Amino acid sequence: MITPSVRARVERLDAGELPAYIHDLAGLRAHVAGVRAALPERVELYYAAKANPAPEILAALAGGVDGCEVSSGGELAHVRAHLPDTPLAFGGPGKTAAELVTALDLGVERFHVESGHELRLLAALAARHAPDRDVDVLLRVNLPLGPEVLRGAALAMGGDPSPFGLDPDGVEACLGLFRGPDAGRLRLRGIHAHLASGLDADTQVDVAGRVVAWSLALADRHGVELHEVNVGGGMAVDYANPADRFDWRRLGAGLDRILAGRPRLTLRVEPGRALTAYCGWYATEVLDVKHSHGEAFAILRGGTHHLRTPAAKGHDQPFTVVAGTNPWPHPWPRPAVHDTHVTLAGQLCTPKDVLARHKPITRLRAGDRVAFALAGAYAWNISHHDFLMHPHPTFHYV
Ligand SMILES: *Cc1c(COP(=O)(O)O)cnc(C)c1O
Repeated sequence: MITPSVRARVERLDAGELPAYIHDLAGLRAHVAGVRAALPERVELYYAAKANPAPEILAALAGGVDGCEVSSGGELAHVRAHLPDTPLAFGGPGKTAAELVTALDLGVERFHVESGHELRLLAALAARHAPDRDVDVLLRVNLPLGPEVLRGAALAMGGDPSPFGLDPDGVEACLGLFRGPDAGRLRLRGIHAHLASGLDADTQVDVAGRVVAWSLALADRHGVELHEVNVGGGMAVDYANPADRFDWRRLGAGLDRILAGRPRLTLRVEPGRALTAYCGWYATEVLDVKHSHGEAFAILRGGTHHLRTPAAKGHDQPFTVVAGTNPWPHPWPRPAVHDTHVTLAGQLCTPKDVLARHKPITRLRAGDRVAFALAGAYAWNISHHDFLMHPHPTFHYV
């Protein structure tokens, strides 16, 4: 499953350049083009930048997505600087007044508002900082869909008490503000919901259908027009079975059914992980191989301070072994294991620093290289880089 260009780079890298993150930008562009093609025209594809905001990744995505979702003032400034022409949706709980002013100054296309207080704050700031412009809002709702709908979700954010979004009656309470004297040029464009991550296509369609039905019923009840529904991200990435990809065509067909008969409705999705996870590899070398109380361990240069994903999500990161030469011409044989199970650990002084546990292996030797797949999302940028003060990895784009 490692692509030829990435494998070639893993083989060619100087030992001094390891560990290394290698991103396959051609693969990323092809993947995103496939996702875009699988979605109906009236479904806009936004990229949730928090999954991987590296400028090279953003540049590769630029032509393939309709916009980006940003979740902080930092992401907002960063994405605007690197992709000045890409529409932005500004979401996330706990937006500060300074961040909202920045967003108004930069003219973001959509504000995803998470509370009544935030809506009032935005209205007040907009009246002062952007009095001549429409400020377009989606209200983020935390719809109680229940575990039977969000089945299999890796991370559920909807239905249960949470810091995210508004309860349904909270949304209703906000509608009055748009009609009131303080609204200024605040415009309610629709509803935003990001209720879970790790959902398969059928569940995504089910959730999207419920969010749209609720939104349109709300619009009817209050006599307002809501033409946009952002149904969020959370499309599943299966780390145990990387070849088992999210079925974008099935999602596209399902969203097409939701759009049918609703000609004025626009849907939006904002995936992060399922767009960029597949384009990244974390490559490093085996420093040592040893046995501990009957089990084999390989100690790798680097670890979860570079690739926190398996520790954060509690999974084994899939990997490929790339044979390497013995870097140390020692007179003794290099440590090795054959036809056994091995745990791949990093250099940190904590038992949590494990990238993959008890994996079958035909051969692994000190000096071999290991490339961990699915390291293009929530990888380097969520990791605690400076714990133990090991050097940072190098970055490569092929
Ligand atoms: C994180 C996040 C996303 C992206 O989630 P993925 O699981 O990476 O697809 C989308 N929308 C919101 C509001 C988020 O917080």
